[in-house]
Amino acid sequence: MKDCLFCKIAAGEMDTDFVYEDEKVVVFEDINPQAPVHLLIVPKRHISDLNSLKPEDGDLIGHVYQIAKKMAAKFKIAESGYRLVSNCGDNGGQTVYHIHFHLLGGRELQWPPG
Ligand code: C5P
Repeated sequence: MKDCLFCKIAAGEMDTDFVYEDEKVVVFEDINPQAPVHLLIVPKRHISDLNSLKPEDGDLIGHVYQIAKKMAAKFKIAESGYRLVSNCGDNGGQTVYHIHFHLLGGRELQWPPG
């Protein structure tokens, strides 16, 4: 989608270092990390937010979870634990309206979130 930052990143137009890429997603380190490990798992196809998901997107979201598991192992946080988060809308804290999943770990995370 034109003028979407994460579409540009996913298309390789922003010179981003991907820690993982396949035909459906890219994964890169968050520019403003909130934990020792803070990755963003971003579907290549533009979907604005969780509210815009369609039933046929189920396979893609399942894939995101499989990649999260793989990245947790790769970044050595699988055993200690981690969190996978997708913020939705203003109250959810979403700032980039291209669906993405934060993978956070490497420290003890608080609950409930602020
Ligand atoms: O959930 P939210 O929409 O706020 O997440 C967007 C995330 O994208 C933020 O954590 C922000 O640091 C990250 N970001 C990034 N690179 C950019 C712009 C934003 O990693 N160029």
